[in-house]
Amino acid sequence: MSVTHAPQTTDVLTRQDPELAEILLGELHRQSSTLQLIAAENFCSPAVLAALGSALANKYAEGYPGARHHGGCEIVDVAERLAVERAKSLFGAEHANVQSHSGSSAVLAAYAALLRPGDTVLALGLPYGGHLTHGSPANFSGRWFDFVPYGVDAETGFIDHDQVRTLARTHRPKAIVCGSIAYPRHIDYAFFREVADEVGAYLIADAAHPIGLVAGGAAPSPVPYADVVCATTHKVLRGPRGGMILCGGELAERVDRAVFPFTQGGAQMHTIAAKAVAFGEAATPAFTAYAHQVVANARVLAATLADEGLVVTTGGTDTHLVTADPAPLGVDGRTARGRLAAAGLVLDCCALPHADTRGLRLGTAAVTTQGMAQKEMARIAALLAGVVRGEVESVPAREEVRDLVGGFPPYPA
Ligand SMILES: *Cc1c(COP(=O)(O)O)cnc(C)c1O
Repeated sequence: MSVTHAPQTTDVLTRQDPELAEILLGELHRQSSTLQLIAAENFCSPAVLAALGSALANKYAEGYPGARHHGGCEIVDVAERLAVERAKSLFGAEHANVQSHSGSSAVLAAYAALLRPGDTVLALGLPYGGHLTHGSPANFSGRWFDFVPYGVDAETGFIDHDQVRTLARTHRPKAIVCGSIAYPRHIDYAFFREVADEVGAYLIADAAHPIGLVAGGAAPSPVPYADVVCATTHKVLRGPRGGMILCGGELAERVDRAVFPFTQGGAQMHTIAAKAVAFGEAATPAFTAYAHQVVANARVLAATLADEGLVVTTGGTDTHLVTADPAPLGVDGRTARGRLAAAGLVLDCCALPHADTRGLRLGTAAVTTQGMAQKEMARIAALLAGVVRGEVESVPAREEVRDLVGGFPPYPA
């Protein structure tokens, strides 16, 4: 096993529970020896992992700093205040709630703060990159609210602004949601604000994916435009798994009460401490450089994939995220993903706008954290295309992947 310095595997676990320790080491080895191209994943720092594995995991802390339902919260209160202050200053927000257990929990709380069951909500349709929380019938959102989906232009793949405006005028939604799991371009928040104002709707930005780019100044911020911004902390932002909500002071109390006690119980103080660490890291010049490199890498990945014959949605990317149709190489997304997994390239399938087959969705957040740059992206894209075409067998492909990642350990010794 090439990785011996497992940040999450302490000696005590190895001694007490070797069976589980072996599993953790195995996963660390998998992450280090294959290529992590899942757009929503990243490698958080050893400092973030340390906070997650701290004694704060033991603490019950329902409520908010200074107003808890449990005793002994005076120290974790300091941790949460620090996380809130760092989030506010990082994103220039008047208010931050850092308790959401996940991105989906943050969206649920945002809806709870602003909507009543049965209200009409406009959001990007799931076939175009909307998240489950944007009206899927399998999710609370589709069950409890009346979602009207907007889409993307069939030709360009860009969000169809004319359709958004028309649907808003027709349906008079209580809220408009902008944000996506697969849209590779910047979202025009000023446009959505204008439409929301015209029809008297709240604007909810679900910035789970780009919020890390926003922190690093590599993507426009929704904070000046949206009434409520929902986000995750574990994607490009490189923190622990979790959610976050940003809003103006006037909605602060409604948002806080929507998180606790309406949709959640006790806050996870170890995760909140880890969020504070990640916000601190994201405020550094090194993170700004990282965020810009993530985008530069994604641009090279998109361009090289296009050169290799894949159809890149919207013709490129503004972000960390690339979606592409491998059909011209002779296979659909699902088959391609299987071949790539066998070769050690780990990525997702996604819906393709206006197509029956599925495409590939990949992102550069994790590989950029490892230190890879444009040269490696071109190599990855060429390898990917070779594997998808069936020209490169999985054994030599795995060799090439091992060679690639060997120089870029996510957790160097
Ligand atoms: C990732 C994501 C979520 C959900 O985050 P979880 O932490 O998986 O619940 C919600 N909305 C969007 C747009 C996302 O990309």
